[in-house]
Amino acid sequence: MKIAIVGKIHEIGLETLNNLGCSVKEVHQTETISLIESLSDVDGIILRTAKIHNEVIDNCPNLKIIARHGVGFDNVDLNYLNLKGIALGITGTSNAVSVAEHVLTFFLQLTKNINISDNLTRNGNFNEKSKLPNFYELYEKNILICGFGRIGQAVAKRCLGFETNVFVYDPFVDEKLIMDKGCQPISKDKGLQIADYITIHLPLNEHTKNFISASEFKNLKNNCILVNTSRGGIINEKDLYEALREKLILGAGLDVFEEEPPQKNNQLFQLENVLLTPHNAALSLECRIRMAKEACETAVFYLKNHKSLNLDNIVNRKNLSL
Ligand code: NAD
Repeated sequence: MKIAIVGKIHEIGLETLNNLGCSVKEVHQTETISLIESLSDVDGIILRTAKIHNEVIDNCPNLKIIARHGVGFDNVDLNYLNLKGIALGITGTSNAVSVAEHVLTFFLQLTKNINISDNLTRNGNFNEKSKLPNFYELYEKNILICGFGRIGQAVAKRCLGFETNVFVYDPFVDEKLIMDKGCQPISKDKGLQIADYITIHLPLNEHTKNFISASEFKNLKNNCILVNTSRGGIINEKDLYEALREKLILGAGLDVFEEEPPQKNNQLFQLENVLLTPHNAALSLECRIRMAKEACETAVFYLKNHKSLNLDNIVNRKNLSL
């Protein structure tokens, strides 16, 4: 069984594949032309963030599964995989905690201005603390979670621990489940109007692109903090820049960008009321270990028709009649 690891993953992934008796190829050149050559004889691919174009798939006659190291899969064409009968795997049980903690870090850091307080203290200005800008509590604030899947639910649990009011916009999730988790279902418009904090946990597709853009920014409270750890493009970046510049909202935290990596002259870099991280919300050490193991096991268990395969990790299981 030949498996390619495309992109760098934690070494436990390689160990897992070796222990399961696979022959492993580590692939670091991720341009399409190189992938066509290096992947031509593999049965399975463990995939980080590289884009796999359909012509690569066309040149992999043995390929039966692409297992994403992560849960988003906008770097492959799912319809094409369905057409070819190739499975798409994800690491559904690995990511939520790490991303949820990243969201709470953004919330707290953007609200409490810890960096400014730290500077003041280490610069010998301890007694100047009354001159610091206001900072705020999460307690009793309204949180709007858009998308109540694995990560949205993990964020809700943590926000409830801070005694906040958690509202959920996700028309595809049963309202009873939302209420059973201690949250309140709400429409998008109403949610945006009342939210002090908004966090986005949607997949990127034609329905969610520009989910928050100029018309939505007009309806937000001006103390609102907006966080996106899902995918760039779900919040319109130019409109976000204008909203932050005009102080229509208090601040924003972004782990994802319309273009990754963002250009050096990205306008957002000029602003102080935005906090940016390099798409690393799921890259805590613990999460990298879990993802590497889960992606490799998913690929091999699928190929071996193994009873331990977690079917929830096969995105197109219905298409494959699993
Ligand atoms: P999930 O599939 O478990 O949940 C997504 C939720 O979005 C579902 O409940 C679905 O009903 C809802 N949804 C879909 N379309 C919607 C729409 N148009 N309106 C409202 N709700 C809609 O996914 P997840 O594991 O929670 O991941 C969420 C996002 O986070 C994905 O886009 C993924 O790519 C991204 N992600 C980012 C990182 C990172 O490192 N920053 C890590 C993991 C996941």
